[in-house]
Amino acid sequence: MDFTLPPALEDYRRRIRDFVETEILPVEADRSQWDAHENIADGPLAALRAKAKAAGLWTLQLPQEAGGQGLPFTGLAACYEEMNRSIFGPVCFNAAAPDDGNMRLLNQVGTAAQKRRWLDPIVEGRVRSAFAMTEPHPGGGSDPSMMRTRAERRDGRWVIHGHKWFITGAGVAQHFILLARTSDDPRKGLTAFLFDRDQPGWRIERRIPIMGPEEHGGHCELIFDGLEVADENVLMNVGDGLKATQIRLGPARLTHCMRWTGLAKRCLEIAGAYVKERHSFGMPLAEHEGVQWMLGEAAMQIEISRLLTMRAAAELDRGHFARKEVSMAKVQVADTLSRTVDTAIQLCGARGYSRDTVLEWIYRYARQSRLVDGASEVHKMVLSRSYLTEGDAFWGWS
Ligand SMILES: Cc1cc2nc3c(=O)[nH]c(=O)nc-3n(C[C@H](O)[C@H](O)[C@H](O)COP(=O)(O)OP(=O)(O)OC[C@H]3O[C@@H](n4cnc5c(N)ncnc54)[C@H](O)[C@@H]3O)c2cc1C
Repeated sequence: MDFTLPPALEDYRRRIRDFVETEILPVEADRSQWDAHENIADGPLAALRAKAKAAGLWTLQLPQEAGGQGLPFTGLAACYEEMNRSIFGPVCFNAAAPDDGNMRLLNQVGTAAQKRRWLDPIVEGRVRSAFAMTEPHPGGGSDPSMMRTRAERRDGRWVIHGHKWFITGAGVAQHFILLARTSDDPRKGLTAFLFDRDQPGWRIERRIPIMGPEEHGGHCELIFDGLEVADENVLMNVGDGLKATQIRLGPARLTHCMRWTGLAKRCLEIAGAYVKERHSFGMPLAEHEGVQWMLGEAAMQIEISRLLTMRAAAELDRGHFARKEVSMAKVQVADTLSRTVDTAIQLCGARGYSRDTVLEWIYRYARQSRLVDGASEVHKMVLSRSYLTEGDAFWGWS
């Protein structure tokens, strides 16, 4: 068993690390370059995206023929981790959610015409996208079978009515992937539709205020009151909505894990520097046993997170859905991010609670990790089902 990265992937990882260090961290450190929602402002973002493109570090996740760099998931695991050493990193490389998962899905299942119309502009960085699935009560949340947004056939088109919320990026997205019910069949009742921001028949009801810093375009509540979609903009076949969701969400969850591991490492980097320099009771904080236990535990949890993420990435590279591997990584990484940022704030004392570092930004951001793309409890339900079905084979090597 060899955990070494192949030289080509190691080269990408190293170049991304250098880019984050020299290009992105200075922007992050300058609050005048942030927008009103505590994200990187459009101007500096456009400049960094242009530089990342010129450096050949753009859209690593797609094949070269689709305008990407063709990295396997195992390579992405190493690179995305480096990107999110900065809170602003992934979006500079076209690797932020939800564009990341949307591009992958469109590339995998879209027709040639759909790729030209809906995918290419995202790959080129000209538009942003959103994925609209979650609904308020009594619609679908953790349980997609409860979905109530409905698409009905009228005069040869699909007419959509319904209600979605927490749709990341909807405030700026031009291209949308929308899940709606087309029948009451329990397995084939949902369909994925593509629509453009400029189409009539839908509106943003509000940008939902949240506790953390916001993605570009925020998290929005959407009302559909007669959006019309032509057959050519049905993604996959009618009734394949659940399948499209599964194809998108497995890898999308894992790329969250890759990025969040980078954020957790950044927290430890900040805390590590502080405890080496700061003294109490006649010695550096780092020499107190209590501090060592906190740092050691956090470092170990991060390594467990990386191994679970890499294992799931290897399964995806082999063409498997890697459902349980992704679920284990998602639960572990979300917990690790939340605990590590809390530990780092504690170790930095009052400074940790201030805005002199990005720890408080990460602390507020981290809380969503146990909810988005499936609450941790739902992933544990999936794991329990797997175990009860597979028994001892749950831990097999092959
Ligand atoms: C910041 C953010 C961004 C998001 N972005 C998007 C997006 O872009 N597109 C989109 O479609 N959605 C998005 N979501 C929604 C997200 O995917 C959902 O919040 C998530 O799937 C859970 O659904 P819910 O909120 O309806 O929780 P509910 O289904 O209402 O569940 C509430 C809680 O009940 C518990 N629970 C539920 N089922 C079980 C079970 N079987 N066993 C044990 N406990 C259970 C869990 O603790 C869960 O957190 C986003 C959410 C957030 C917070």
